[in-house]
Amino acid sequence: MIPILSHQENIDSTALSFLDALAQAGFAGDIEKSYASRLAVATDNSVYQSLPQAVVLPKHQQDIVIMTQLASQPAYAQVRFSPRGGGTGTNGQSLTQDIVVDLSRYMNQVLEVNAEEGWVRVQTGVIKDQLNDALRPHGFFFSPDLSTSNRATVGGMINTDASGQGSLKYGKTSDHVLELTTVLVDGTVLESTPQSNQAAKQLAEQSGTIGNIYRQVLETCENMQQEIEQRFPKLNRFLTGYDLKHVYDVESGAVDLSRILCGSEGSLGFITEAKLNITPIPKYRALINVKYDSFESALRNAPFLVKANALSVETVDSKVLNLAKQDIVWHSVSDLIQDVPNKEMDGLNMVEYAEQDEAKQQQKIASLCQLLDDKIAKGEDGIIGYQVCDDLAGLNRIYAMRKKAVGLLGAAKGRAKPVAFAEDTCVPPENLADFIMEFRALLDSKGLNYGMFGHVDAGVLHVRPALDMCDPLQETLMREVSDKVVALTAKYKGLMWGEHGKGFRSEYGPEFFGETLFNELRKIKAAFDPYNRVNPGKICTPFASTDQLVSVDAVKRGFYDRQIPVQVRDSFTEALDCNGNGLCFNYDASSPMCPSSKITQDRRHSPKGRAGLMREWLRQLVNNNVDIIQLEKELLAGKNDVSLVKRFANSWSKKRGQYDFSAEVMEAMEGCLACKACSSQCPIKVDVPTFRSRFMFLYYSRYQRSIKDYLVGYSEAYTPLMAKAPGLFNVFLKQNWVQKLATKATGMVDIPVLSQPTLARSLAGHSALNFDLDALNEMSAEQRSKTVLIVQDPFTSYYDADVVRDLVLLAEKLGFNPVILPFKPNGKPQHIKGFLQDFAKTAKNAADFLNQIAQLNIPMIGTDPALVLCYRDEYNKALGDDRGQFKVELFQEWLTPRLAELEPFAASNMTFYLFGHCTEKTNLPNSTADWQQIFTAFGAQLKPVSVGCCGMAGTYGHDAKQYENSKGIYSLSWQQELAKHDMAQCLATGYSCRSQVKRFEGEKLKHPVQALLSLL
Ligand SMILES: Cc1cc2nc3c(=O)[nH]c(=O)nc-3n(C[C@H](O)[C@H](O)[C@H](O)COP(=O)(O)OP(=O)(O)OC[C@H]3O[C@@H](n4cnc5c(N)ncnc54)[C@H](O)[C@@H]3O)c2cc1C
Ligand code: SF4
Ligand code: SF4
Repeated sequence: MIPILSHQENIDSTALSFLDALAQAGFAGDIEKSYASRLAVATDNSVYQSLPQAVVLPKHQQDIVIMTQLASQPAYAQVRFSPRGGGTGTNGQSLTQDIVVDLSRYMNQVLEVNAEEGWVRVQTGVIKDQLNDALRPHGFFFSPDLSTSNRATVGGMINTDASGQGSLKYGKTSDHVLELTTVLVDGTVLESTPQSNQAAKQLAEQSGTIGNIYRQVLETCENMQQEIEQRFPKLNRFLTGYDLKHVYDVESGAVDLSRILCGSEGSLGFITEAKLNITPIPKYRALINVKYDSFESALRNAPFLVKANALSVETVDSKVLNLAKQDIVWHSVSDLIQDVPNKEMDGLNMVEYAEQDEAKQQQKIASLCQLLDDKIAKGEDGIIGYQVCDDLAGLNRIYAMRKKAVGLLGAAKGRAKPVAFAEDTCVPPENLADFIMEFRALLDSKGLNYGMFGHVDAGVLHVRPALDMCDPLQETLMREVSDKVVALTAKYKGLMWGEHGKGFRSEYGPEFFGETLFNELRKIKAAFDPYNRVNPGKICTPFASTDQLVSVDAVKRGFYDRQIPVQVRDSFTEALDCNGNGLCFNYDASSPMCPSSKITQDRRHSPKGRAGLMREWLRQLVNNNVDIIQLEKELLAGKNDVSLVKRFANSWSKKRGQYDFSAEVMEAMEGCLACKACSSQCPIKVDVPTFRSRFMFLYYSRYQRSIKDYLVGYSEAYTPLMAKAPGLFNVFLKQNWVQKLATKATGMVDIPVLSQPTLARSLAGHSALNFDLDALNEMSAEQRSKTVLIVQDPFTSYYDADVVRDLVLLAEKLGFNPVILPFKPNGKPQHIKGFLQDFAKTAKNAADFLNQIAQLNIPMIGTDPALVLCYRDEYNKALGDDRGQFKVELFQEWLTPRLAELEPFAASNMTFYLFGHCTEKTNLPNSTADWQQIFTAFGAQLKPVSVGCCGMAGTYGHDAKQYENSKGIYSLSWQQELAKHDMAQCLATGYSCRSQVKRFEGEKLKHPVQALLSLL
């Protein structure tokens, strides 16, 4: 069994007493001190790892005032903080060993939209896409763009001065900030609005922190004008943190303090509210995809494209292009970026035009096309062709392809993974091509693998060389390359940080600002935060302080990960490879990723949180001398098991308060719905259900399981028995007191009733029930081609039998001979609960049976996506080669290629709405299109509805502990979308989804096969 893991980094005693005092002081938000909560914010998208003392999550600004006022008491002088938003920084910007103040959980409201005057006021924990959703109905958007828009907060954007595509026209975040409200570390609330010189001077005369700040800023700006002018490169991505160039208007002497705060990376205070200007959504958008014979040609041609008045010019190199081409995503754009006959496309520039006026838009597009035609005719600039895309859906598909391809870079095979440390350099666009050639030569000379893409219009290059950060030598190489890139950017008159901010790269600050100006930054820091208490060490330290700047050499994740032996790391890649990009915090309720994260707003309950906990858990086991792989093997073989008494005793000790880190990990794992969205939606394919079941398997080698686990895990064994007398069980289960008792005794709610009539009864006398292997064996090839075998699953067959019945009737009406295979447990419930030893046996039995049937060469189909897909994924992982070659398809996978063989159907004017199962949508990207094709062939229309998870996910929704979350997840998208349609026209492919709708709406949705049957 696994040992108890009692190690946890203790919280410093002053911090602990501060947190206790904070709880007493009227702080309304959350204070999280558990090791798991601290670990969940110990990483971002960078290579660093830093464990904070605690995480506090304020409910409102007053909470931050309470916190900072308390911290001003002498007893807490040593307490320090770091603000945090989405935690998507690429260089450890929000990482700290102090107290994390996370504004994303509660302080995320859009407070006021003033479309007439073109501004919005927000709390800074609001996510950028959430803000744009609120602005869209008014015809506006917040224009600074960034790839992490579905999880990065406005607070994070302001503090890193974020920008992205379209920055030539839309600028950086700071260009859109009108006012900020900031709580300073001494509890002062600073409202920064632009001030005339006279007003700024009056403010500077005040005593107190605000007076100090104005005095210092005026002094620096007035005295250092020449130095500032010389030092700050004239770039679109100008030098921020702190933005001395824009804070002071030389002509008028006006001061806008917000400019100092933008890009300050949380080192000056907690920005709580922002008034931002907003931009009208362009009415017309188009993308011209220009194709090149090489990446270098694409780079050298970029200035020409910018001159052609483009909104933005984005580029990708051949590595990124090829990754996209090999991925399924290419299907969505292959018609929009076609290959050029007899030419190799090794570079691509995506040129966007966006206008309010159609004629203006057309004229710009036509004039670029004319120029491109001339160049192609003359064979100039390596241009081999171009394509124009002017429909929004196509445009979005192309950008989605780019985003996905960039994500695929991160999923590189092998131990070396792309890492961020010089990933956002910026040089004047006219220097970009030469700079990149030299940059490539540097990386090539070190034998590093990389892909490149970027905003060529702004001279920004994105590159993440692949390094194995578990190898100390590679860590040293990272530092060496980093230093060389700093020198290279300086040579080309650029910046090391063109987009993502500084974080642990702050040590290079003096090099870029020069000693004189850097000292001025330190004086400004001292005016805001004299004792270096907010995000200490980032950007700069206060003047006169002896504190050190953070360094690129800070402790990295690799330091911890390398303590896990290579074999274990290789075996648990699904957890180890998470790079913290935060895509799993996706705010969009209609995206399947990740329901438990969305509903809890708790980072522990995200794929990233779970992967981080798993890594630490493995590390601690190793440090406790556990040979994890060997232990797993032994347990799977039924060895090394402990007695029931011992397991009960261990559970009892835990219940009585004995600390075990495994229990913290378990809490996070229990909150997972095992919906598998992460396993396909995460760019790195972090697969929580896979490592979660392995974790549970090992966890229960020490502790005793609950009855609920056995009820779920072995449901496939007892359900067929119950289904022999469904009436009896149903009468029983329909009693309120029985349900209540069941909840009390087993921890399960709303236990579903069995189908009545049963499948056998509803098809009584039908040939589909007469499975006879010999008879099937004797069939001719012609007969076999007209036969289809139906693989049963426990949920549909025993709880939703009319779906299987209707599938039989539909297949028959389509001219096929359906035969239902005898029920064989699939094992998915065992896998979910981590009964891995038994799952392996169940899977082997089912695979043996299905392989035998597969010899018949007759298609096999199943109805429930989660169970059918289990044959592919979980079976492969558990059985390896023993899985054999059998194939079970979903109905739509089977029928779509056969549609052409069917007689044409009469047209109907029926429209249906498809609520797809999330495992199906995420793991079978063609699924919706297949269903649509089928409905079109049947003469009807099928419209997919954008929904996330329904909240049931197998048995998660029946777990009393998870009931409220299950209901909450349902209300995020399903409830709202169903309310928009007639339920009779809404279709759901998943059994779980249908049962969830039934319990909350009292009505059952049809499976698509039932709707198809109704059309015949
Ligand atoms: C895959 C990927 C792609 C990216 N693409 C882009 C891109 O296109 N453009 C771009 O600009 N960036 C990009 N980034 C970087 C990152 O997303 C941005 O820096 C983003 O603005 C960070 O926002 P966040 O909410 O995650 O902030 P965090 O990472 O939580 O914090 C960032 C900094 O802001 C501070 N901070 C956060 N909130 C507050 C607050 N309310 N008050 C005071 N300080 C605060 C933190 O202390 C920290 O220093 C990318 C990152 C990843 C992982
Ligand atoms: S789990 Fe995937 S999506 Fe989430 S942070 Fe890790 S790598 Fe990114
Ligand atoms: S399986 Fe679903 S709920 Fe669990 S971590 Fe992955 S996306 Fe989240």
